[in-house]
Amino acid sequence: MSKLIDRKWQLLPVMALSVVMIGGLYGFNITLERLVHGSVKRTTDSLLTDVIYEIHEDNPSFTSRLQIDDYIGDLTQADADARIQVINSNGVVVGDTALSDRALVDLDSHANRPEFIQAWESGEGGDVRFSSVLSVDLLYSSRRVTIDQQDYVVVLAVPMHHLENMTFQLMSILVGLALLSIAMLIATSLLSHRQIEASVTAEKNKQDERIHQRTLEIELMHRLANMLAACQNLVEAQRVVEDIVPRILGQVNGSISLMRSSRNQLVNQLDWGDKWPGSKSFAPDECWSLRTGRSHLSIEAFHHLSCEHMSSIDNNQTLCIPLTAHGNTIGIMHLYFGQGEIEVEELTTQLAYSVAEHLGLALANLSLQEKLRSQALSDPLTGLYNRRFFEQKLTEHTNNSATSSESLSLLMLDLDHFKRFNDNFGHDAGDYVLKEISSLLKRTVADDEIACRLGGEELAVILPHCNMADATEYANNIVNLIRTLHLEHKGLSLGQLSVSIGVATYPDPASDIEALVKMADKALYLAKDQGRDRVVNYQQYNEFKSPELGLVENQ
Ligand code: GH3
Ligand code: MG
Ligand code: MG
Repeated sequence: MSKLIDRKWQLLPVMALSVVMIGGLYGFNITLERLVHGSVKRTTDSLLTDVIYEIHEDNPSFTSRLQIDDYIGDLTQADADARIQVINSNGVVVGDTALSDRALVDLDSHANRPEFIQAWESGEGGDVRFSSVLSVDLLYSSRRVTIDQQDYVVVLAVPMHHLENMTFQLMSILVGLALLSIAMLIATSLLSHRQIEASVTAEKNKQDERIHQRTLEIELMHRLANMLAACQNLVEAQRVVEDIVPRILGQVNGSISLMRSSRNQLVNQLDWGDKWPGSKSFAPDECWSLRTGRSHLSIEAFHHLSCEHMSSIDNNQTLCIPLTAHGNTIGIMHLYFGQGEIEVEELTTQLAYSVAEHLGLALANLSLQEKLRSQALSDPLTGLYNRRFFEQKLTEHTNNSATSSESLSLLMLDLDHFKRFNDNFGHDAGDYVLKEISSLLKRTVADDEIACRLGGEELAVILPHCNMADATEYANNIVNLIRTLHLEHKGLSLGQLSVSIGVATYPDPASDIEALVKMADKALYLAKDQGRDRVVNYQQYNEFKSPELGLVENQ
């Protein structure tokens, strides 16, 4: 329906033009006919004047009809295109250049013909009419003249068909041109309409595609924010970023560097796309975006200034965007587009800003979460893991050991005569010693080993892939290190320190966690009993308790 209405409106100017053209052609035709008539009339009048002049000059004597007919027949003006008639007062045609004498006799009276009546009454007349004798349209021009003392009406008739033909041809050309113009107008109008329709459709498709793209980007951005909010650590965040960010920004190489708590260094934490080509860690001063506090595109119309943390690649096109959260700059997001003057689309920049915004907040929340989690799982005085974390990890690792059949060892540590130490040096010095021994433990444990403070001056170490012999050797090393520690507090030497350690192993001889802890404790008590500053493992404990029998004590 709307298409029909469209087409109607589209053809309206054509229809209006057609009406105007038809009107114009009609007016032109009338004017042309008038002009033709006028022109023929003037020619006829002039010829008639010539004829009458010649008659007056010759002053012929018209005694008989034959004489008159012969005379006018000889006139030079009488030819195929000019018929001359002489009509007497009774309307009888007495001479006619177009008819023979005999035909003249049979001719009807012309007394009632307009050109005769007008000329007879007023001296001159005229008419245009179809001549049945010559079978053409004739223009009649008549005048009343006196010849040989008799009044006659001399009529000169000229055929109209030449000029009418000319008029017809002219009009045909004009109508042809008009029709051609209308046809061309319709064709042009249809063509332009089609072109407009095609470009409107193309634009609409483009618009639809853009809307689809924007919707997709919004959805992806939403997913990114949601998934990042659900991440519990940077490893998970890396997987989310690696998967979703390239879908938003396209195949662009990117990375995230976060500021260390000391705020003097940024460390690359996440990346996506190809291997990150820039520095893995750098000072804040090495990035223009961190210096200026706003995003920095290395090559643009106003400058070619690369950041120093990308100096390993010459002439690089990098976009650095500061990551902020809760009013603090927490790092930067860098995008690397390649070498040289690469045109970075405005849309990519805008999307990068949105991604950076989400990442900034998400990573800040993540680090806050990690901080809270580590606070919940660590001991505030020593920075070692607390009993809660110890229990979690011990369960986790014994389960792993059960499936892998690998040994897991547990060390129970207790500082010797610590009550006495506190009494001698004060509680502050005691705290200091606890911290120092804890940091010594942290230094000695490997990545997968866990040092904890269970409470007071009781410490523990979980060695996930370690049998009893290796664990005993490790424990002896600690005992030796602590024995050789020479600590000072407030300028005062704290003397020699010592620790006792009990060692037990899972799954043999301890078959579960409770047994493991109990065995390590028993070995520790034996170490204390035997004079402290030593290591006792559960095997030694057993041998000591049942030397003759060599029996394993009932757990
Ligand atoms: P032993 O060799 O038999 O273990 O003797 P000990 O004095 O260490 O005896 P015990 O383990 O029973 O005493 C623990 C003491 O450790 C009691 C307390 O004064 C001290 N202590 C516990 N927690 C802290 C702490 O956080 N700071 C300080 N400075 N001392 C602590
Ligand atoms: Mg104790
Ligand atoms: Mg003690």
